Amino acid sequence: MGSKETIIIGGGLSGITLAYLLTKRNIKSTILEASPRLGGRIQTIKGVIGTPLELGATWFSDMHPNLLALIDELGLKKYPQFSKGISLFQTRSFEPPQKFYVPEAENPSYRLAGGTQMLIDTLIQKLPEDAILLNTKVTTVRETENGIVLGTADGRFLDAHTVVICIPPQLASKQMTFSPALPDPLVAVLPSVQTWMAGAVKFTLEYERPFWRTEGYSGMLYSHAGIITEMYDHTNFEGSKFGFTGFLGGGAASYAEEVRKELVLRQLGELLGEKALKPVAYFDKVWTDEFILSGNQVIQRPHQNNGHPLLQQSYMDGKLFFAGTETSPEYSGYMEGAVISAQLVAKRYFKT
Ligand SMILES: Cc1cc2nc3c(=O)[nH]c(=O)nc-3n(C[C@H](O)[C@H](O)[C@H](O)COP(=O)(O)OP(=O)(O)OC[C@H]3O[C@@H](n4cnc5c(N)ncnc54)[C@H](O)[C@@H]3O)c2cc1C
Repeated sequence: MGSKETIIIGGGLSGITLAYLLTKRNIKSTILEASPRLGGRIQTIKGVIGTPLELGATWFSDMHPNLLALIDELGLKKYPQFSKGISLFQTRSFEPPQKFYVPEAENPSYRLAGGTQMLIDTLIQKLPEDAILLNTKVTTVRETENGIVLGTADGRFLDAHTVVICIPPQLASKQMTFSPALPDPLVAVLPSVQTWMAGAVKFTLEYERPFWRTEGYSGMLYSHAGIITEMYDHTNFEGSKFGFTGFLGGGAASYAEEVRKELVLRQLGELLGEKALKPVAYFDKVWTDEFILSGNQVIQRPHQNNGHPLLQQSYMDGKLFFAGTETSPEYSGYMEGAVISAQLVAKRYFKT
């Protein structure tokens, strides 16, 4: 890397949005991303027959104005989550499911045409070509007289004049060594900031035909009885590719993927019949890898310490900042929070 510059640690929605906001103001920045891909907790994969399938973030609503404005600005399209027809609620495995209709929502959930990853892909196109280094995991943050030197897991050192940490604070506290040490009150807070969706198991199924729609079902399922706890129709924007997505229960992470698939299909077969047993593909993701979690989170409540005041301040003499959805005072944990956190840092410290 050439002369000292602004370095953004983390290539998720917050880091990439921040780089985009800075680029619009002609401020050069470099994103260091630990994993081989961009997007972090946003991960859309293409199914076997090309259905965009969300392993991570999927839904947003009119309550998320900053995200909606960004989507508009980038020329992307949103569409409502399909919910027409009979929805199912399974209270106990030995009783038939309760059937209910979801009223047309005043505040519908939206999905992004093409998949949530479109947000990441479109933002990246607006950045200079050399703005991103993948496979670059930051492990040390050392203040020097007029800058910060970042050390990576593979032994590289990168010079910056300003650094913005755009990864979950809990992860930063476990993965990074700071010298000089960060102030004690911040050191105490960082490990107790809950990382939203760490440990979640999201699954997707791809089908040739939307058999549930033709039989009057919405595809929506809530269950206290099977491995699937929540499920939704996952048809694409064009209405030409079909599937489901949803969450699996807590214990699912300890099973092998084939076992999870088998249990998912058994549950759906019982609820929706034979056709459910023949998907084109099944994919899932257990969100416990090194890019989101380090050890077990010791957390008493969801969103604990999210948006904490100490995460709004600068450190290392005004050269080090925190962003990322968990730092946002509003909608922390969500994509909206990731966008807000990037906007706040851009405004507060880069005067954009
Ligand atoms: C299964 C699941 C479902 C979700 N559903 C929704 C939803 O429907 N709606 C919604 O609004 N939100 C949802 N979310 C939350 C949403 O995905 C996040 O709020 C948002 O994507 C967070 O963006 P971020 O940039 O703050 O963090 P992240 O996306 O976590 O980005 C952090 C990045 O930093 C990288 N990194 C980590 N450590 C280092 C290191 N040491 N050095 C360099 N890079 C590092 C990571 O690899 C990652 O790319 C969901 C999340 C998950 C996991």
